[in-house]
Amino acid sequence: MENGIVLTMRDISKSFPGVRALSHVDFTLRKGEIHALMGENGAGKSTLIKVLTGVYPKDGGEICVEGIDRPITIHSPQEAAGFGISTVYQEITLCPNLTVAENMYIGRGKGIGVRWKDMVRKSGALLDSLGIPARPRQQLGSCSLAVQQMVAIARAVDTDCKVLILDEPTSSLDDKEVAMLFKLMRELRSRGVGIIFVTHFLEQVYEVSDRITVLRNGELVGEYEVEKLPQVELVAKMMGKELESLSVMHRDAAAAQEAGDVYRAEGLSSTEAKPFDFHIARGEVNGFTGLLGSGRSESVRAIFGADRVTGGRVTVDGAPVKITRPVQAMHQGIGYLPEDRKRDGIIADLSVRENIILALQVMKGFFHPMSRAQQEAFADEYIAALDIKTASTDTPIKSLSGGNQQKVILARWLLTHPKYLILDEPTRGIDVGTKTEIQRLVLQLAQEGMSITFISSEIEEMLRTCSRLIVMRDRKIVGELSGDELTQDHVMYTIAGGGE
Ligand code: ADP
Ligand code: MG
Repeated sequence: MENGIVLTMRDISKSFPGVRALSHVDFTLRKGEIHALMGENGAGKSTLIKVLTGVYPKDGGEICVEGIDRPITIHSPQEAAGFGISTVYQEITLCPNLTVAENMYIGRGKGIGVRWKDMVRKSGALLDSLGIPARPRQQLGSCSLAVQQMVAIARAVDTDCKVLILDEPTSSLDDKEVAMLFKLMRELRSRGVGIIFVTHFLEQVYEVSDRITVLRNGELVGEYEVEKLPQVELVAKMMGKELESLSVMHRDAAAAQEAGDVYRAEGLSSTEAKPFDFHIARGEVNGFTGLLGSGRSESVRAIFGADRVTGGRVTVDGAPVKITRPVQAMHQGIGYLPEDRKRDGIIADLSVRENIILALQVMKGFFHPMSRAQQEAFADEYIAALDIKTASTDTPIKSLSGGNQQKVILARWLLTHPKYLILDEPTRGIDVGTKTEIQRLVLQLAQEGMSITFISSEIEEMLRTCSRLIVMRDRKIVGELSGDELTQDHVMYTIAGGGE
């Protein structure tokens, strides 16, 4: 193996039933570097890590580590550790009711009969030298999660680790804790450990990493030196786009539509969404955009009361309202088509008719059932209006194509005549024809006065339908684009954090 390289993965492929999670991926890790592994949700990052640590067998490819002149086969995380490859997972896997020292040395196999005193002394020295604020005799559970994670890292490092893998280590840390972790990572780097850092936080990558490997849809996009990859280009690569131009555009923001807000929230937060402000005017189509996992869905779920709302002031048509449960949102004229049609949307065993009338029935209350004739009339009306391809109103929805199922759920919400309709990924996984139909329908409904918030992973689709885009990164709103700013480049610049 080339000098200074501790790990190479070559031509790695891995499939799950129906999914090609990794396709001919190469990855190289140098000694003493922090190497970020980036990609949108589902890009294959965790799978690559799990192949490397023997959690999953690979379908093809080679793994080589420094010091062994043949490719190695890894069957389990224990075997991986034996090759000097250690992982610290986001969920801590240590024992909170044992001491820090015990956690660093238990189950180590080799030195049976580790003396308690030695253990305390050795772990104390290691913790000190790594600058980890924990004492050996302290119960692990009494440390913050951040410190527990650092203890897990210390444990990994003390077993002669050459490759340290941190998969989303910062997700639940605050800024101070992140700084502490980064200090530890830099210390380990200076000791020659190669660190694979999996994260979706762009800024953190630029703060601490030396190189970046980008995956997309299970394929290698490329490997880059951090200084040579501007943040906006990283975003473009993660999204699989080319920048149309790198010139920064300066245009003024579109005029605010203060007068006619149908919905307005200040400081709205939920268990899943940090406080944010948001408003939508009558007849406006706006959208949340950002990388997968940036918090788009969590924001709209807070608006609809689908997650537990923890704060904020909301007005509908200017009047203060309380929306903490979906049914309250529905009574305020808000509809919500969820992202995961299979999980939250369709009721597979019910008929097309029953699925269509569901939201209206919920609003009326189940003690006031609609007559069969009324149900049939509504179902017929919307099957015709949306051109839903179904044998009859009684056909089970599960036998319809994805696109037609989606139209049924749309019909369900249109039947409640919402003032404000939220569509989360309404066009994902459906055929192009139906996609276009849904886009056209959105614009038509807006023209008739309905306000619509639209979320799609396809930027082009958002640019075609939305007159205002709210850009999210790392669960925060980082910008708002309208008018001439509505270009793909602009969106990517904003996701990447401004003019870098
Ligand atoms: P990332 O970590 O980049 O978000 P993953 O490696 O978790 O991505 O997932 C890559 C792809 O493989 C996704 O499409 C995911 O749904 C699929 N996948 C991951 N693990 C499994 C599994 N155990 N079974 C089936 N599919 C999986
Ligand atoms: Mg992952």
